[in-house]
Amino acid sequence: MTSREIRNRFLSFFERRGHAVIPSASLVPENDPSVLFTTAGMQPLVPYLLGAPHPKGKRLVNVQKCVRTQDIEEVGDNTHDTFFEMLGNWSLGDYFKEEAIAWSYEFLTSKEEGLGLDPARLYVTVFEGDERAPRDEESAGIWKRLGVPAHRIYYLPASKNWWSPGDNGPCGPDSEMFYDLTENGLGDMTHEEYLAADDRQDIVEIWNDVFMEYEKKDGAVIGKLANKNVDTGAGLERLAMVLQGKRNVFDTDIFESLMAETKKITEDVRAQRIIADHMRTAVMMIADGVTPSNTDRGYILRRLIRRAVVKAGGILTPEHISTIISAIVETYKGVYVNVEENKERIAEEINREVEKFNNTLSKALLVLSRKFPTAKTLKNGGYYGETTDISPIEVSGTIIAGYVPPLINGKWLFNFFQTFGFPFEIAIEELEKRGEHFTGLEKDQFRKEFEAEFRKHQELSRAGAEQKFKGGLADTGEKTVMLHTCTHLMLAGLRKYLGEHVHQAGSNITIERTRFDFTHSEKVSREILDKVEAYVNEAIAKGCTVSIEQMPKMDAQTKGVEGSFWEKYPDVVNVYAVKAPDGTVYSQELCGGPHVENTGKIEGRFKIMKEEASSAGVRRIKAILE
Ligand code: ATP
Ligand code: MG
Repeated sequence: MTSREIRNRFLSFFERRGHAVIPSASLVPENDPSVLFTTAGMQPLVPYLLGAPHPKGKRLVNVQKCVRTQDIEEVGDNTHDTFFEMLGNWSLGDYFKEEAIAWSYEFLTSKEEGLGLDPARLYVTVFEGDERAPRDEESAGIWKRLGVPAHRIYYLPASKNWWSPGDNGPCGPDSEMFYDLTENGLGDMTHEEYLAADDRQDIVEIWNDVFMEYEKKDGAVIGKLANKNVDTGAGLERLAMVLQGKRNVFDTDIFESLMAETKKITEDVRAQRIIADHMRTAVMMIADGVTPSNTDRGYILRRLIRRAVVKAGGILTPEHISTIISAIVETYKGVYVNVEENKERIAEEINREVEKFNNTLSKALLVLSRKFPTAKTLKNGGYYGETTDISPIEVSGTIIAGYVPPLINGKWLFNFFQTFGFPFEIAIEELEKRGEHFTGLEKDQFRKEFEAEFRKHQELSRAGAEQKFKGGLADTGEKTVMLHTCTHLMLAGLRKYLGEHVHQAGSNITIERTRFDFTHSEKVSREILDKVEAYVNEAIAKGCTVSIEQMPKMDAQTKGVEGSFWEKYPDVVNVYAVKAPDGTVYSQELCGGPHVENTGKIEGRFKIMKEEASSAGVRRIKAILE
């Protein structure tokens, strides 16, 4: 079965069971600058999982593009990619374990409507229970009734089968499905045998059903949720792998034409896979609007491209890049149309980035070799040869000593990055190739030092994508929601007193404050800030209702609804309006929520603490509720 057919079958299966098909959100989270990339299908749905009504109803299904850079070191094994597609179905306070598990099973095993996988190769896991919640006998019972033998249901601890994104909000057990990849089949396995098979990647996790059943407050489970949700995620690449009888995601139809190209570049199989993976992720990111840079998303994109270049032995020609992009465009034709639409721009971005890196790459490799004089070095930009040359060399006007007894630490690695653009993990890999050995502890230490240096230089104080996600959800406390509504009002006030050129350029909201970037090129006087403050406080005092309305994008635009990045939104958009009982509309803005229902619920007085330049043409405000 082709990957296209798997996508279609999944969507129709759940559509027939009352689910509305929703499009994949962008890889760049909308209205949520606290997260770098979309890492799971549930992520764009967080506001709805927390209780906001979804315009399409209580049963949803989609195929979501995901990026997990934290899996980067796994890439090249059988089952991990940095970009992958997640098939997901959701119940927002509607059906629960019974239906969710039965449908998962039916979709996996039914020949007519599903994938027709062999039930004899299926294993499932459920939560074993601990002080926070009891053993999930309910899920186990459902699996048994469906015909899964009791000894193929494994009870696992919270580290494996408990989902909890933060100290506050929903949490609960999950149930995972694994498939046997071995030729002859593993048959019945004891608990220990199951764990060993998982370790060997003889079985692979293909689907995860999360049951948001409990509520957490300040880190402790306080009871069951009134509205229970289901969130499921199945990896398309892994399903294609098991259906196509492969042991590796890179051997599926998804990677077929792409791997054919990377095979021409290097003989090293792991390198072929890494190049294929990173280039695919880079293409998808650029299609969704990311460009290479030294901060945040752009920096992750830059690292992926550079790592691909290093894995290609230092040479990725415009011809290679062009054939690689064509292969990717072909694979996603009609699925993610923005890939084909942006083909030229994607090629330009990647070529420009590769060229930039090429300028320093050979010099960087030379420096690495000089630190290790018996190591191999890149000669004439082409092949690797031995060198024992330890005389100093000049690089970009700086004299670099010849043989220096290696003292590698995070700071050295950071300087190396600053001078040659060599991202952390690539430098480590290249050093190891040249005979250095680092323990896991040392690497962690280096990474910490590197990141500390990085922050110092870039003022980049944000955490990794996954942590951010956790932070984002955990912070959806009442205070954050209040500040979110205030932020909408503030933007409306800024537009009222400064003009229509003012739009959001980024925002970050925590329990303590809102940090808001907007397009405006001059300092805003205290007088105007006072007026904006008064505007927000007036809306708070009036007890305005906050309503969410769905409307065609065209209508929203003509009605003067405020929003940035219109092109990223689907044809039908959610508009949040703040309206006073006297009819005054204080704000109308595109958003995914969540917001307070009524501004009367906002506690405290809104106060702008600080206004300063953020970058060219962008100002930044920090404001609080005091
Ligand atoms: P694993 O433990 O194998 O890394 P996970 O527990 O991180 O997987 P989930 O967060 O449960 O995975 O994601 C749901 C599904 O998404 C998984 O069952 C799997 O099919 C798929 N998936 C997760 N990570 C990746 C990845 N890096 N590449 C491809 N598919 C993935
Ligand atoms: Mg999992």
